Amino acid sequence: MTATFISGTEIAATIRNGLVAEVERLRQQGVQPGLAVVLVGANPASASYVKMKAHMCERLGIASRKLTLPEDTTTEQLIARIEDLNDDDAIDGILIQLPLPYQIDKHAALEALHPGKDVDGFHSANIGSLVLGHETLVACTPLGIMELLRRSGVRIDGARATVVGRSDDVGKPMAMLLMHAHATVTICHSHTDDLRSITRESDIVIAAIGQAAMLTGDFIKSGAVVVDVGSNQVLDRGEVVQLFGEETPRLESFDKSGYIWVGDVHEREVVKVASRLTPVPGGVGPMTIVMLMRNTLKAARIRRKL
Ligand code: NDP
Repeated sequence: MTATFISGTEIAATIRNGLVAEVERLRQQGVQPGLAVVLVGANPASASYVKMKAHMCERLGIASRKLTLPEDTTTEQLIARIEDLNDDDAIDGILIQLPLPYQIDKHAALEALHPGKDVDGFHSANIGSLVLGHETLVACTPLGIMELLRRSGVRIDGARATVVGRSDDVGKPMAMLLMHAHATVTICHSHTDDLRSITRESDIVIAAIGQAAMLTGDFIKSGAVVVDVGSNQVLDRGEVVQLFGEETPRLESFDKSGYIWVGDVHEREVVKVASRLTPVPGGVGPMTIVMLMRNTLKAARIRRKL
């Protein structure tokens, strides 16, 4: 079997077109949706993610505001700024770019967000609503994965799904969404005994681990659908060859930039076993950002009772 790739890039583009129309509809109702992104410190990867989000806002016609705070910002100072944004009528969504510097209490900062403006879906009120199956703002990456699965016609109802990873931002909300869609869900993590025997029984495997190419072909049942959330930077040319072979275009890409992004799934092996697979890059990543935009519009509609 050779898996078909599920293109997050293409599906995200389709959704994006719909969002452009929605922004226009809101504008006709006198609403200019606005997203604020809070960046603390100068982490280059975070700065680049913030830039991408601002760029996407611009493409869609969403007003974006970037708030950059110094590396030594205290929790109290950050919370004060978040409260200002909570009270700001021009702002519909607030995103705190993670990770935060070590001195900041991440939990306290996320809890300071107004739940109705928490477009990342990380506030405990939104997580609670998700668990209860109520309509709410849901974490963007799992939300994007559900769209990928649904729009690719993957059967979720009744399927056995395994989520490898139990983080608050990906693994846990992912498992909840799959469960609400009537999959039978198993959550695995670093203490799971014999992970392979569990994933091999699964119709859907979601890999959100953070370990480059960890899920090799022998972890996957023939014909399974595999979603690779992982985004791991590989800096070693030998590793690129070992993962993708000598003939891969990935080597050219590596030689240009000195690194490549690799998922948690061993693509070269899994593509021979699975029926469908999301690529890295171009799978889950583009969906995450488009779901952030969709959540911002949803927050705008709910707050303005539209
Ligand atoms: P975390 O580090 O928060 O969580 C990783 C999870 O994987 C943990 O639950 C951990 O278990 C589990 N794990 C680690 N090693 C193993 C192992 N050997 N066997 C089984 N489970 C293991 O990561 P995130 O959930 O935030 O992210 C996961 C990956 O997804 C990362 O590569 C990240 O960069 C990427 N990502 C990509 C996004 C995108 O838009 N493309 C968005 C968000 C994340 P335990 O709990 O026991 O420690």
